[in-house]
Amino acid sequence: MHLIMIGGSDAGISAALRARELDPAADVTVVLEDAYPNFSICGIPYYVSGEVTHWRNLAHRTLADLEAAGMRLRLDTTARRIDVPARKLLVTSADGGEELLGYDKLIVGTGAVPVRPPIAGLAGPGALGPADGVHLLHSMGDTFAVMATLEQAAPASAVIVGAGYIGLEMADALTIRGLAVTQMEQLPEVLPTVDPELGALIHAELAGRGVEVLTRTTVQAITRAPAGQPGRLHVQAAAADGTAVTRTADMVLVVVGVRPETTLAAEAGATLAVRGAIAVDPGMRTGLLDVLAAGDCVITHHRLLGETYLPLGTTAHKQGRVAGENALGGNRQFAGSLGTQVVKIFDQAAARTGLRDHEAIAAGFDPVTVAAQADDHKAYYPGSHPITMRVTGDRTTGRLLGLQLFGHKNAEIAKRIDIAATAIFHHMTVEAVNDLDLSYTPPLGSPWDAVQIATQAWTRHTQAH
Ligand SMILES: Cc1cc2nc3c(=O)[nH]c(=O)nc-3n(C[C@H](O)[C@H](O)[C@H](O)COP(=O)(O)OP(=O)(O)OC[C@H]3O[C@@H](n4cnc5c(N)ncnc54)[C@H](O)[C@@H]3O)c2cc1C
Repeated sequence: MHLIMIGGSDAGISAALRARELDPAADVTVVLEDAYPNFSICGIPYYVSGEVTHWRNLAHRTLADLEAAGMRLRLDTTARRIDVPARKLLVTSADGGEELLGYDKLIVGTGAVPVRPPIAGLAGPGALGPADGVHLLHSMGDTFAVMATLEQAAPASAVIVGAGYIGLEMADALTIRGLAVTQMEQLPEVLPTVDPELGALIHAELAGRGVEVLTRTTVQAITRAPAGQPGRLHVQAAAADGTAVTRTADMVLVVVGVRPETTLAAEAGATLAVRGAIAVDPGMRTGLLDVLAAGDCVITHHRLLGETYLPLGTTAHKQGRVAGENALGGNRQFAGSLGTQVVKIFDQAAARTGLRDHEAIAAGFDPVTVAAQADDHKAYYPGSHPITMRVTGDRTTGRLLGLQLFGHKNAEIAKRIDIAATAIFHHMTVEAVNDLDLSYTPPLGSPWDAVQIATQAWTRHTQAH
């Protein structure tokens, strides 16, 4: 049995590891277009900030570890065409040489690519790029380009276009490096994946750390600053009321989301679905004979919303594992996502799982969201921090639908969002969360965990209204 994985990141490597684990005789080849297999691109902001001291430390596993697991890695090799009926993959190596590789099963893990928003200066003839200090950020190659700008051009200031989780992590990272950061976001609040009430708290944390945050601001053009003026680049934007906003900066980072990289699969005849991602069944099969796919290039089955697109590393790992097992004839299914996410912004963290009101309404629920606050541990023990929470449940059935949290990075925000993720995964009601036997000692918690304080507030509110 010869398996080929296209893509050497979370999905492709998870699939390869699982296949080798299940069948040590399986012949497994991973084809990747760069030389950085199994790198944790989620860790890029912490390498840029300097907290992770060497890029090699971002490797989940080294090349030697991967080879020791029994897979063959074709570095600097690009998959060009899938011949589905003949079960052959055309690849080109860095020197341009072409080769046809035969396979029994193929797993497409081509991931995602950064979205290039319609900003003048980003595309077309004379487009600005890394040499000018204008960057996108997704791959290790992008990271090396950002580091080259930081180390060679010694920028004093940066504009970050976008305030999603990567934009926020990069605002944190560049501020730690000593740059003056301006963050521009076209939506009304930062981190639009949480309610604006929590977004406003993140906004305040950024502002408190000296980041200039400009929301409702749409970037329109990036140009080179005229010689003799401070700053290398001009960023022109428009506020919601049409007022022109301009900033000068030494570097610009554009991080406004990703889109699935599906060219290869689509040309082979794969069906594309929501947001243009590859349609797969829960077993990660594409519908093309002997071709599976996983990770940021495919749709995500959401346990409450059905088919959606939620590109995340946690999901890519799980889908890759399912694909690796099923390529060997298994019948595993991806159990579905809840969009559970956590992000650190300076000393604070924000997290969400499940649905917010508008998503719950679209999914046919009758949601009620209630705000609550509780300390992460007993306030009499030093170092306690308040956690701001928003719990969403279904009025009709009492089912827990979602939780959003904001609090200090040491307030176990990730652990607490995972309590809710587990409860939602298992269809628990808001009230049933109160019955969970959670741990307690004053330096680390309270007799009622903060999450249970929030679910009690929800029950009180819905009983009163
Ligand atoms: C800065 C940053 C921070 C992040 N932080 C988090 C986080 O905290 N938590 C989280 O859950 N997720 C996070 N993510 C998202 C997470 O990294 C992705 O969801 C995950 O890497 C997806 O893995 P993947 O294998 O599907 O795709 P990708 O990581 O996109 O990898 C696809 C690979 O396929 C290769 N490839 C594509 N086409 C070809 C071809 N034709 N031939 C050969 N190779 C090809 C690409 O070069 C690439 O290496 C972050 C992402 C970034 C960029």
